Amino acid sequence: MNLYSGHINKLIEELASLPGIGDKSAGRLAFHIVHMPKDRVTRLASAITDAREHVHHCKVCCTLTDDEICPICANKDRDHRTIMVVENTRDQAAYEKTGKYNGVYHVLHGAISPMLGIGPGDIRLAELMKRLAADDVDEVIIATNSSLEGETTAMYISKLVKPTGIRCTRIASGVPVGGDLEYIDEVTLLRALEGRTEV
Ligand code: ZN
Repeated sequence: MNLYSGHINKLIEELASLPGIGDKSAGRLAFHIVHMPKDRVTRLASAITDAREHVHHCKVCCTLTDDEICPICANKDRDHRTIMVVENTRDQAAYEKTGKYNGVYHVLHGAISPMLGIGPGDIRLAELMKRLAADDVDEVIIATNSSLEGETTAMYISKLVKPTGIRCTRIASGVPVGGDLEYIDEVTLLRALEGRTEV
């Protein structure tokens, strides 16, 4: 039974397909949107299409950026010989927010998960290895989450990096198990970074 207009139903369906939005929230948002001034709806819609259109992966570190090379990779004052490997751009932002890390990053866009069928080829690992082969790198800091997937990924990366002779470290596990890096406070993040150990 269709309770609402076809357009509202379609909008609810699209919103409900987004992560973290259930049918109820989707309904609330849909009714909010149809009551919004038209120019605001246009702004919202173009923000979505513009982001999808213009955001892509940095050619060096794979983070999401509007530019070909992201501002961090393009910054000559950063220490390009230290690469911190994170699972996603939000984790990178969490470290950036501390303002205490001056190296560069590599963003994997995921973690290895045999259970979900995500293998090493599904994340940006080949790009990392290419960087290590091409650039002068002193240290790779593995800052994947302390979840099962994050630990599996960390172990996999350390096995790849070791034969290159490049120093390979893992952030301390002061980070709560399964905790998404972006939700952890800056003090804990810095402690995890300072307490990193060789792997
Ligand atoms: Zn970059």
